[in-house]
Order: sequence, then structure tokens, then C-alpha cells
Amino acid sequence: LTEVLEHEQDLPSETPDGHAMPLMVNTGLAIDAVASLKKRVSGVGLYRTEVPFMITERFPGEQEQTRLYRDQLESFAPLPVVMRTLDIGGDKDLPYFPIEEANPFLGWRGIRVTLDHPEVLMVQLRAMLRASQGLENLHILLPMVTNVDEVDDALRMLDRAIRELGEEGADVQRPKVGVMIEVPATLYQLDALAERTDFFSVGSNDLTQYLLAVDRNNPRVAGLYDACHPAVLSALSRLARDARRLGKPSSVCGELAGDPAGALLLMGMGFDALSMNAPSLPRVRAAIRRVPLDAAKRLVDETLSLNTPKAVRSHLIDWAEEWQ
Ligand code: PEP
Ligand code: MG
Repeated sequence: LTEVLEHEQDLPSETPDGHAMPLMVNTGLAIDAVASLKKRVSGVGLYRTEVPFMITERFPGEQEQTRLYRDQLESFAPLPVVMRTLDIGGDKDLPYFPIEEANPFLGWRGIRVTLDHPEVLMVQLRAMLRASQGLENLHILLPMVTNVDEVDDALRMLDRAIRELGEEGADVQRPKVGVMIEVPATLYQLDALAERTDFFSVGSNDLTQYLLAVDRNNPRVAGLYDACHPAVLSALSRLARDARRLGKPSSVCGELAGDPAGALLLMGMGFDALSMNAPSLPRVRAAIRRVPLDAAKRLVDETLSLNTPKAVRSHLIDWAEEWQ
């Protein structure tokens, strides 16, 4: 089977009825085999910038970050690279920036940290912009957004970075900016977010954790953590529809997108792209190449009528057997 899938990897991610479903890759460190990956994906859907920060001994400076980001942007150009601003806190600590809290997942995380430390965010934005000169494939993504204000503050900083770099003689373009949809509050503020930003990227890992109030890393409640919970699927389906109504592209970059059945559900819901870790690409591509869009849409309707995660899971298993 692995050989069959390998052979398919250079074929388009397209359903038998001709619907193209762009697949993107999640990255962190400099990745191997970029040359072959680049032919197989539509870009980087999520570059987790905190990953390189985890292996340094202090915050990397502007030059160092510019080099890191240039590497990613150049490797994939002209394909888009979605760079997420630092998402530390929660389960991701930097050794040189410890955060100790009783409830880290509800605490100082992502954009909450970087807006409180504008000097950190500013260096990162400047480095991203400098790295993108002449390439035009940089997209910036804001993690853990809860309030529209946070987006406004981040955009003001981005504008300042662009202005300052311009004054310093750099030729930087304004990148597209997107919001991570992972705090449930954002599901109810899409209109306001759409007025300010260019795309939505769903962090299904955190959205699941926060919708279900289940710590994504706690083995005691691991049985409750399920992205196929009817409430999560209902939220995702509504989000895909709302994004379309608002004219904004939407994609999913959490683990659900890298699961073949999950990917088919997301395609059926109408998401515009799926981003996943490189090892998940072969199986997801194979699933998409075997299942017509109409069948995926029917699958969405069927699963949305089910009331328990267990019923959804067993329906997905029965259904997958039919399509083997
Ligand atoms: C997510 O929350 O689904 C996501 C993609 O981001 P991370 O896993 O880095 O929190
Ligand atoms: Mg997240």
C-alpha cells in the first residue's frame, strides 16, 4: 500500500469528479526533502515559528530570524508560506522565557504574550518582512486571538514595521494577514475579523480543546478529547460556510486535516485548503483522489445528524470501508 501511495504523490490532489483540494504542509524546523515536497503541496499552511525558538538559548535576534524566515520563504517560493507569530505559553515554553501558571492553556499564550512584549513581536514582524523582500509569498498568521482589539493592535504594529523598514530603504510589501480560529469566541466574531484580515486558519487542536473544555495533553481526559465531537464538527461546518459568505479563504491546520476521514469531512464542508505534517500527505491525497466531492458532502450531512462522538467515529469507519 505504501508503494501505491508513494506512486500517487506526484499526482494532483483532486477528487475523481475534478474538485481540486489544495494540500499544504506544516513546518517548524528547516525541513528535509523540500524539493520533492514543493512539487507535492500548494505551500506551507503553517510555519510554527516557536519551534526554532525552542532550540536557541535566548530570543534569536532580527538578523538570525531574517535568515530563518528567508530560508522557508525561498524554499517554497512562489508558493505561499503562512508564518505564524510566536505561539508560546500553553504547552510550549521557551527555556529562557519560563511561564508558570495554574492554567497555562487558559493563560498567557500566543498573541497575549507577544502583545504584552511588543519588542518581541516587532523584531519578529520586521524579520518576516525583511525576509520576504522580492519574494511576495509571505502570509502572517496570528495565534490565540480572542478579541478583535488584539488584531487591531497587531496590525498597527505591522504597519509600523512596514513604515520603518521603508524609511530604512527596504522594499517591503504588505503581506496578507490571517487569524487562527481556535478560541471559540472568534467563531462569533467572524464578520469583524473579516473586515480586518484576509484569511482564516482553523487550529482544530485548540478549537477542540476549548470547545470541549478538555486539556489536549491530559491522558485522564484523553477519551473526551475528540475533534469528531458533533459540536466541533458543527462549529467547523458553520465556519466554512460563514467564511465563504464573507469572501475569505478558510483552511484547517490542526491534526484533523491530516486524518484521511477528517480531511474528507473538511473538504465536504467547503474548506479551501488543508495543511498537515508531511507524513500525513500521502494518505490524505489518496483519500481525496478516491472520493468524489458529492460523496464527501453527503458524508458531512450524515455525520452532522449524529449526536455522539462514538456514533460519528463508527459511521466514518463503516463509510471508509465502503471506499477502500
Ligand atoms: C491547532 O491548535 O490546531 C494548531 C494548528 O496550532 P498548535 O497545534 O500549534 O497549537
Ligand atoms: Mg493552536
